[in-house]
Amino acid sequence: MAEQKFDLVVIGSGPAGEAAAMSAAKKGLRAAVIEKRQVVGGNCTHKGTIPSKALRHSVKQLMRYNTQSVFRALGEPRRLTFPQVMQTVNKVISYQVEMHTACYARNRVELIVGEARFRDTNSVEVLLPDGATEIISSEKFIIATGSRPYRPADVDFGHARVYDSDTILDMQHTPHSIMIYGAGVIGCEYASIFAGLGVKVDLINTRGSLLEFLDDEISDALSYHLRDMGVTVRHREEYAKVVPTDSGVIMEMQSGKRIHADALLWCNGRTGNTSGLGLDSIGLEANHRGQLSVDEHYCTEVDNVYAVGDVIGWPSLASASYDQGRAVAAAIVGRGHRIIEDAPTGIYTLPEISSVGKTESELTAAKVPYEVGRALFKHTARAQISGERVGMLKILFHIETGEILGIHCFGAEAAEIVHIGQAIMKQPAPNNSIDYFVNTTFNYPTMAEAYRSAALDGLNRVARL
Ligand SMILES: Cc1cc2nc3c(=O)[nH]c(=O)nc-3n(C[C@H](O)[C@H](O)[C@H](O)COP(=O)(O)OP(=O)(O)OC[C@H]3O[C@@H](n4cnc5c(N)ncnc54)[C@H](O)[C@@H]3O)c2cc1C
Repeated sequence: MAEQKFDLVVIGSGPAGEAAAMSAAKKGLRAAVIEKRQVVGGNCTHKGTIPSKALRHSVKQLMRYNTQSVFRALGEPRRLTFPQVMQTVNKVISYQVEMHTACYARNRVELIVGEARFRDTNSVEVLLPDGATEIISSEKFIIATGSRPYRPADVDFGHARVYDSDTILDMQHTPHSIMIYGAGVIGCEYASIFAGLGVKVDLINTRGSLLEFLDDEISDALSYHLRDMGVTVRHREEYAKVVPTDSGVIMEMQSGKRIHADALLWCNGRTGNTSGLGLDSIGLEANHRGQLSVDEHYCTEVDNVYAVGDVIGWPSLASASYDQGRAVAAAIVGRGHRIIEDAPTGIYTLPEISSVGKTESELTAAKVPYEVGRALFKHTARAQISGERVGMLKILFHIETGEILGIHCFGAEAAEIVHIGQAIMKQPAPNNSIDYFVNTTFNYPTMAEAYRSAALDGLNRVARL
């Protein structure tokens, strides 16, 4: 059995693992990444962020073609099948794999394809694709093995009409109807995608409103626009039984309802990928969701074993995973620590949603005196030109200091637009004030105009004593 030794071994090549390994190599460590998939990129590239965003982009283009009058001169509205849009998605995945693979050679990070399992705190056994095993030793380890969809035992995921967010990408047909169980971010995004493809969607939410962590006004807007696209949103429902048949899936609800669709997409919960890691060999234990706890240096209870990304739970975003990867590499070489807790929310529904900072409910509960400024996209020149008039930008700010406390946005490119406000929020006082948007010249016509309109609207509301 061959044996290799490194300063740092990272298990998993998703955003967290890649960022940690590249950053550590740049800091002079001899680093390796072990990845059980034949190609790098993690679930982010192959099952999660990238495919879902590429799918959504194609569907959005299709919707623009079908709804904007300028295209009627080219012909009638068209349909695309799910496998057709997946062809473009697969191209994007290949570009991503090519780009990420090049990073390994460029940064001299050794890539080992195989499944890693701890033997002890300084070595792992790697099961190679040809069935052979290899022992890899290292001073330090980073677990960046990500997460997978949670699969309850009483749902038959082997049935051809039952999908989760990983297997849906292999669907070879376009159903007439689909029920999506779980109305979290992934469920809402797929509800938009399927509705945009003209599929009848039932979105089943176990809670009382959509994405309760959002500002109420934005959550209400999402409900309105999903329903406007034809999605049936059902709140406060829990399944009692899932019955797949030859022609579809019937879901019996605890409320006594029976919902039927051609296919079921299960989007309720995720589990950390820790079960195959041999954690007991190093005295570590994951929680009931398969997640690991870490300290402010992303170190687990074993002092040379670290963990980052989805495997440590919240916020379970690719954006935060990249930053956690860089932060853990800095912590390992003794260059301080940074806990990533201020990631903005980017939700790629149709319309797109993004926010950063506090919501109105949070500020009200904390008795912070704030005011709100709003701008509707339909009143900006840029939105009128692009034809994407649905949307709103909302700025929450302190009435005494003008400090920006929250930015909440929905509509086209919301996830980009939010960064303008985020950059100002991050400035030290008094430069983090809403006044910036009134006193600065922006390109015109751009969506930055929405910031100016929202700022003026908000400042005009402030009651002066
Ligand atoms: C449908 C969907 C949409 C999403 N959209 C967004 C979005 O728009 N924006 C956003 O920021 N986030 C989004 N996310 C979340 C994002 O994909 C994850 O937060 C991110 O992938 C986590 O990165 P990671 O590095 O922790 O792990 P992952 O990307 O999960 O990668 C972990 C890797 O570890 C490997 N591995 C596991 N066990 C072993 C082992 N024992 N040995 C070797 N290798 C192993 C796996 O094969 C995998 O390649 C989405 C997720 C889903 C499911």
